[in-house]
Amino acid sequence: MPITGENLIGGQSVRGANAQIRASDANTGQAMEPAFGGATEADLDRACDLAAQAFDDYRNRPLAERAAFLEAIADNIVALGDELIERCVAESGLLRGRVEGERGRTVGQLRFFADIVRKGDFLRTVKDAADEDRKPARRPDLRARMIGLGPVAVFAASNFPLAFSVAGGDTASALAAGCPVIAKAHSAHLGTSELVGRAVQKAVADCGMPVGTFALLFDTSRKIGQGLVADPRIKAVGFTGSRSGGTAFMKIAQERPVPIPVYAEMSSINPVLLLPGALAERSDAIAAAFAQSVTLGSGQFCTNPGLILAVAGPELERFEAAAATALAQIDAQTMLTPGIHKSYEEGVAALAGNASVQELGRGKAGQRCQGQPALFAVSGADFRADKTLHDEVFGAAALVVRCRDEAELTAILDEIEGQLTIALHIGSGDAERVRALLPLLERRAGRLLVNGFGTGVEVSKAMVHGGPFPSTSDGRSTSVGGMAIDRFLRPVAYQDFPAELLPSELRDL
Ligand code: NAP
Repeated sequence: MPITGENLIGGQSVRGANAQIRASDANTGQAMEPAFGGATEADLDRACDLAAQAFDDYRNRPLAERAAFLEAIADNIVALGDELIERCVAESGLLRGRVEGERGRTVGQLRFFADIVRKGDFLRTVKDAADEDRKPARRPDLRARMIGLGPVAVFAASNFPLAFSVAGGDTASALAAGCPVIAKAHSAHLGTSELVGRAVQKAVADCGMPVGTFALLFDTSRKIGQGLVADPRIKAVGFTGSRSGGTAFMKIAQERPVPIPVYAEMSSINPVLLLPGALAERSDAIAAAFAQSVTLGSGQFCTNPGLILAVAGPELERFEAAAATALAQIDAQTMLTPGIHKSYEEGVAALAGNASVQELGRGKAGQRCQGQPALFAVSGADFRADKTLHDEVFGAAALVVRCRDEAELTAILDEIEGQLTIALHIGSGDAERVRALLPLLERRAGRLLVNGFGTGVEVSKAMVHGGPFPSTSDGRSTSVGGMAIDRFLRPVAYQDFPAELLPSELRDL
């Protein structure tokens, strides 16, 4: 399928008249064909208009049709074949195996939501029967269900060019909820975005969905993204990216005459607690597994283990030495964009230049735009005193915090910001410690895991990929898994409606 560099609006390809944008090959830095025309404000207006027009029609289609539409998107993405994989590998610098796996995750996610739509449980239909004899007043017949919020703006993530991009988790869950989607392509993978966008656009046509059900816009001026969030026809936002981007959108959304929810997934350092029993029993094995986890995909995962917490002592020293040895064997990998690489280098340089931080080891040095893994250590007291050490360094870097004792470790957990994950490595005699820490851990993170690392986020009904601010803008939500659909729904109750006027799913309750 030719990549044309056009926006996809209302079933048509529309050449954007704003600045020309080009993708670049992540490994060579070479600009790639074609040039993409940035969307204009008129393009944005048309996409919002069509999405608003499509909403009632789309959300009222039978659930079986909505599910078949999601499956058609999945089939169309698979049908793109190698062209999609090759373009995505070139634009992202990610390894082919990873990109193929991500395509599997993306289509699996679409089919997973199709299944949820077909079953209909997400509508949460409920009825309170009327009681005509209740005194002093009759109780009315009340029935409720969830409906979609309205058109959703989706900001594609740089670090998942398929699974959290144009037809990724946010889009799949919004479409499943009955909401049209306007996706803003990430400038790091423009061609990948267009190919996937065309797969969605084709599914809209093949399934006879209203043309405004989906649109894809390109832009790097920031005007279109900000205009989308500010537009009164947009009713919710899904975002994965930087804290500055997420909070900028939260501000715009809150300042609208009618504020809307922004579901932004932003910044997390994903603490890993090494408890004494685990350290005594298997510090070498944990170190080897940690080195693999922190360097996976050049560390460009929101769940990357960036902070190790443990009580100082010979066992922790053994872990540090083993982790540094394992890390030294690991190659640098190409990062997603020159900008992300630059931020990583700056973050690592800041750690290396911090007088209270000790460098424990580095991975193999890389070439242009490759992130060299790095491991550092700091005392608990210095970590508590210097809040810059609490910031995410997006990439394959981590900081070991040597706590004076368990009380200091607990105090640090109490002070750190909200997290997507906290991992606990436990062994003999640690169960009581975990029990005591659990209420605090639950307040700090959206997912707690034992004897593993947070990378590798299962798409399933019980998954929570969310957490208190700033890991996400709204800790009541998850952006991965079945509950992700809830972000784009709201309840409506129908009181004393005659059966023939009720929505069909509320009639026979
Ligand atoms: P980003 O800079 O936040 O960009 C994400 C998307 O939002 C892009 O489409 C971008 O547009 C848009 N955007 C950002 N700020 C905006 C603003 N103020 N107004 C309008 N649009 C805005 O994220 P990124 O490019 O993926 O990566 C940059 C940094 O984000 C990384 O170095 C890393 O620190 C962090 N990050 C974190 C995670 C995580 O999961 N924790 C994931 C990815 C990135 P443009 O394309 O025009 O810039």
